[in-house]
Amino acid sequence: MAKIKKKIKTIKVDLDKCNGCRACEVICSAFHANPKYSSNNPARSRIRMIRDPMRDVYVPVYAGEYTAAECMGRDKYIIDGKEYDECGFCRAACPSRDAFKEPDSGLPLKCDMCEDDPPREKPLCVEWCLNDALIYEEREEEVDEEVKVEDVEIGLESMINKYGLQKVMDTVARISQKD
Ligand code: SF4
Ligand code: SF4
Repeated sequence: MAKIKKKIKTIKVDLDKCNGCRACEVICSAFHANPKYSSNNPARSRIRMIRDPMRDVYVPVYAGEYTAAECMGRDKYIIDGKEYDECGFCRAACPSRDAFKEPDSGLPLKCDMCEDDPPREKPLCVEWCLNDALIYEEREEEVDEEVKVEDVEIGLESMINKYGLQKVMDTVARISQKD
């Protein structure tokens, strides 16, 4: 199989530096507003703060893949004696919780690394984190070239499975009317 170069983008999270200010949520939701920067609502952010100041718990979590079914069990982490919430580090848009779902439509949200045209040098949450809790890195890796179904097709199929064709079509119609 032919090899291609793939750019891998990573955001490292330093929990010790995060103070739960939520600037990352604000800028992410503003960047993804329609029109861009017209509003901000952390509930629409692709990064969410799990915060519990009384226990000094601050965990920025990035929205990852949509999943149609919740896990059969729960995980819980204890790090340096500090106990984190169940599923606290999980990135999935999952039926067991409200995180990473568009509040009006219920459609799943996913971090797109602030895709823009022209491309941005750094994601906005990284730029806006004044505590340097979010660190952006890029590297190139050689990977097998795959013939794969378009990402958009996979996303649409999972949304139709979850919400039904009519709800997805209604949402697309409503969003396109805003443009
Ligand atoms: S990288 Fe961009 S899209 Fe992803 S959480 Fe940060 S601001 Fe949001
Ligand atoms: S902007 Fe930085 S310090 Fe503030 S909540 Fe987000 S990750 Fe934490």
